[in-house]
Formats: sequence, C-alpha cells, structure tokens
Amino acid sequence: MSTTLKRHQMFIDGKWVEGSGREYQDIINPATGKVIAAVPKGTEEDVNLAVRAARDAFDDVWFDSTPRDRSERLLKLAEVIALNGDELARIESENVGKPLAPTLSEEIPPIADCFRFFAGAARLLEGRAAGEYMKGFTSILRREPLGVVGSIAPWNYPLMMAAWKLGPALAAGNTVVIKPSEWTPLSLLRLAELAEDIFPKGVLNVVTGDGEPVGAAIVRHPGVAMVSLTGDVATGKLVAREAASTLKRVHLELGGKAPVIVFDDADLNAVVEGIKIGGFFNAGQDCTAATRVIAGPRIHDKLVKDLVPAVESLKVGDPAAADTDMGPLVSEEQLERVSGFVDRARKAGAEVATGGARIKRAGWWYEPTIVLPPGPDAEIVKREVFGPVVTIQRFTEEEQALEWANSVDYGLAASVWTRDVGRALRMARRLQFGTVWINTHIPLVNEMPHGGYKQSGYGKDMSIYSLEEYTQVKHVMASLD
Ligand code: NAD
Repeated sequence: MSTTLKRHQMFIDGKWVEGSGREYQDIINPATGKVIAAVPKGTEEDVNLAVRAARDAFDDVWFDSTPRDRSERLLKLAEVIALNGDELARIESENVGKPLAPTLSEEIPPIADCFRFFAGAARLLEGRAAGEYMKGFTSILRREPLGVVGSIAPWNYPLMMAAWKLGPALAAGNTVVIKPSEWTPLSLLRLAELAEDIFPKGVLNVVTGDGEPVGAAIVRHPGVAMVSLTGDVATGKLVAREAASTLKRVHLELGGKAPVIVFDDADLNAVVEGIKIGGFFNAGQDCTAATRVIAGPRIHDKLVKDLVPAVESLKVGDPAAADTDMGPLVSEEQLERVSGFVDRARKAGAEVATGGARIKRAGWWYEPTIVLPPGPDAEIVKREVFGPVVTIQRFTEEEQALEWANSVDYGLAASVWTRDVGRALRMARRLQFGTVWINTHIPLVNEMPHGGYKQSGYGKDMSIYSLEEYTQVKHVMASLD
C-alpha cells in the first residue's frame, strides 16, 4: 500500500500495538476497489495477550465495578458515538460501501441507543428471588458476569454488530476481546479510540485479522468463557464444534432467508415499498433482508408488475452522494457469490424480471434484481444469497405459504402482509422464525430481542434477554443457625 495511507494498530491492554506477526492486510473501499488503509494481521499470540489483559482487567477492576459505574461509562460511549456520528458513518461507508446518508440516519442513532439501552439495563439486572425455600436456610440468587467474552463480528454492519456484542457484555460486567471482520475493521478501531479513556485498560481489546488464526484462537482459548459470533451458518457450526473442547458458552447469530408472505388482501403499495427498502437496504447484505417473497394467487402478478419499476428506480451509485439508495457489494468474493446464484438460477429455468447482471465500474457492483424462480425448491429460494436479489413465488393457499416459508434451514426473520388480523396472528404463531413482522419488514428496536430459530443460531441480541445471556446465575444458601 501507499505510505500515505493509514497503517492501523490493534488495541490490547489499553495500548495501540503493532501485532506480533508484523504483517498487514490491505483494507479496500468496495465502491472503488482502492486500498484505503492497512490493519495488522493478528496472530494466536496477539489473542493470548488480549485474553490475558482482559482477564487481569476483569479480576483487578471490572468484577468490582458497580452497575452504576458501568452504566455511566456506557452512557459516555453512547455520547461520543453520537458526537462523532458523521465520522463513524463516513468510515463505515468507505469500508463497506454503504450509502452515507442512511448510514448516518439509520445506523448511527440505534448504535448509540444500543449502548444507552444497556447502560440502563445494567442497573436493573437482578436475581429472581431471595428467601427461605428450606426451613432454616436463606437462599440468594446472584447474577454474575462470566469473565472474558470473545466476540467475533461480520462485515455487513461492522459497528452495529460490535455494539450488539459490546453493550450487553460490558454492561453485565464482562471484559471483552473482540475481532472485527478482516474486510471491515475500521469503524471498530475508531470506536476503540473513542472508548480509550472511558474504560479501564484491558476491559475492551480489539484484535484484527482473519477468522483463522484470530477468530479460531479466541474460540479455542480456555480463558475465554463465552464466544459470541455473528456470521455465516458454516462458521457458526465450526465455532460450536471448536467451543465444545472447552465447553464455553456459545452465542450464534447466523444467516437468514426471510420469507415475505403477501396475502391477496395486502396493501400493495405498502408491500412494494416494504420490499424496495427491506430487500435492498445495504445492497441486500442483511441477515433479515426481505429476500423471499411468497405472494398470493391474485396479488402475485400485480406485485411483480409494480415491484419491477420500483426496484429499477433505486439509485445505485456513489455511496457519498446524498440521493444514493444502493452501493456496491462488499468484496469481489461476495460479487462472485451473488452473480453465481443468479446465473445458476437462470440455468435452472428462473426468469429474471429485472437486473441479474454486474455493473461495469471500478469496485464490486451488482444490479438490484428480481428473480421468478422455477419452483419452491430452487437453490435461489432455499439458500442465503446475501445480495440485492429478491425472489417472488406464487402460492395457492395459506397452508402452502406457511409450508414454503418454514421449508428452509434458517429461522431468523419473516413478515406477513395482510389486513386480516386473525390470519396475521395465526401465521405469526406458526412461522418458525425469531422475529415475525406484520405489515412491515426490517425495523428492530433495542428493547426487543433479535435472534434465530433453527440454523440461524441461538442466543438473543439486543434487549434484556441478551444481557442475561452474558451472565451466569449463582445460588448462595446460608444456614440460619
Ligand atoms: P463469516 O462467517 O464469513 O465471518 C464472520 C466472522 O467470523 C468474521 O469475523 C470471520 O473472520 C470470523 N471467522 C471466520 N472463520 C472463523 C473460524 N474458523 N473461527 C472463528 N471465527 C471465524 O460471515 P460474514 O461473511 O462476515 O457475514 C455474513 C454472514 O453473517 C451472513 O450469513 C449473515 O446472514 C450473517 N449475519 C447474521 C446476523 C444476525 O443477526 N443473525 C447479522 C449480520 C450478519
């Protein structure tokens, strides 16, 4: 890389360090294909140092911190995020290819709010009961932190996923070693700089580098009490297997393939707008993206007819421009993956209603695409594409819509569109997904849990449920004699 570009360091034990391997990895702006920075390629030794620092910080200061102390620090962190929102959004936009305006308006505020939520929740953690459950003895429940938590983040929402992991872990009194995605580490490194004076040294450590060796070393380390991964299903299986050797707690937020079930009585305009946003936000690189439309027999054709021009009206281009709706995909690898899915679907007999091609310009661009698959078992219907590709199927009866919706291995999120309240609630009950939206798709709030059913993983992010997962419960029993 050019010597004028920033060479980053890792953050271990309150210090910025080179990394023991002395090797660097280029970080690329996906909108231009140009190198914008370099970060250290971490090693197992770096992970060992970070875990040692996190353990010492846990034993020396953090275990004794009061909820109020942790809460005040998290509030400060929320404040500096809000104050530096413009810069964080710009970093995220340049590193991931996200359109800048929605990154600033739709991502930064909920990230700051995530820390505010957990700042408040830290002060409300409680054991369920204390009392005499056996004559002559008092029982007390204590909710305690686990120790060192290892967090491994993906590239699609680098800062938000880091916030979802750091907020509950720190609020509950754990110290953290966190690894960003090797493609998108820049916003988390900036967050660590902003947090530098807020937390005691060693409470928050950032180790950059690849899944193997850095992520794998975090998962293997006997000093890490819990590992939280957001990533691909295949990575989740690897992590769960590896974590078994030390029986550490595992928290997995994995892929999705959200069905969007549209009944004939749905508000067509609202559905079109919902899919236009929910299917293509972040170029569809979203685990809850509205990717798999299952439309009723009478609304199907009207939906295709209205959705195609709506999707074609999405403005794809320079992420920094104020009116851009969609930027590039994150990497060449991701572009290959997405175009491979669409090419195979075409060969298998799918009709591409719009899009379906790469956009020829520097960086990694793909057209917003709508595919009418050849059947309910097509690969493009069953597997996560993770790009700007939406499929539309036609169902005949409610039972079939439900069966198709539930027929994938994933179970992260789903939506139902209908004016019939009874039907909406009936579907919500039987859909095997961790989030079910009715007449909307995509909004999340920090008070409510987010997490998968089935192979989308286990463990909840956001909400008090997440906080509890970063704790363990101890029963203390005292004789009254
Ligand atoms: P990925 O699985 O390739 O990588 C995720 C993280 O795991 C990265 O930091 C990577 O370096 C690390 N990793 C890779 N191999 C590892 C190993 N052997 N041991 C430990 N760590 C390892 O996923 P990605 O491509 O970065 O992210 C996209 C995926 O994330 C999609 O499947 C998406 O659906 C999912 N996702 C899920 C949620 C959710 O809330 N459920 C949110 C965002 C993204």
